[in-house]
Amino acid sequence: MLGEKIKSAIRDVPGFPKPGIIFKDITPILKDAVLCESITAAFAEKVSELRADVLCGVESRGFLFGMLLAQRLRIPFVPVRKEGKLPYRTLKQAYDLEYGRSTVEMHEDAVLPGQRVLVHDDLLATGGTITAVSEMIGRAGGQVAGYCFLLELGFLNGRARLAPYSENIYSLTVYE
Ligand code: IMP
Repeated sequence: MLGEKIKSAIRDVPGFPKPGIIFKDITPILKDAVLCESITAAFAEKVSELRADVLCGVESRGFLFGMLLAQRLRIPFVPVRKEGKLPYRTLKQAYDLEYGRSTVEMHEDAVLPGQRVLVHDDLLATGGTITAVSEMIGRAGGQVAGYCFLLELGFLNGRARLAPYSENIYSLTVYE
């Protein structure tokens, strides 16, 4: 089963980026071209019913499958980045982290009023990042059509924070 294949490819790295955290390293997946193809196909099957006009991928691991999936769906890809990386005029959305604050940005013309937006990242944890992305999409006049993730840390209950924007939340692998 695909979820099990993903789980067995993921590498747990204790103590990264700081002590006490066990980081889920998805890079071994990228070495397996057949698995990458299966992942992209599975995402496409799940989200095609959402009729998204555009896909937002979140820096930086959300770019990997985000671009592949956008190509497969034949829709535009929008990079959402951390503050200060995008060259043109941007919309910004600040959000709280466990310690401190961060800001996501996208180009102001990336999502147009009325567009249905599929949001993708590698991993859903607390949902803080994706909530900020969802707010920003709303400010651009877009509507979140749904979300897709490779992994979800279910015990952090990030999906409860996303549900007000869209209840279409697909994760290929969930750690309960
Ligand atoms: P959230 O905002 O708490 O949901 O955190 C999600 C963001 O943190 C995503 O952009 C992830 O890429 C990143 N992230 C958090 N923990 C991990 C991990 O264990 N592996 C890979 N990315 C992670």
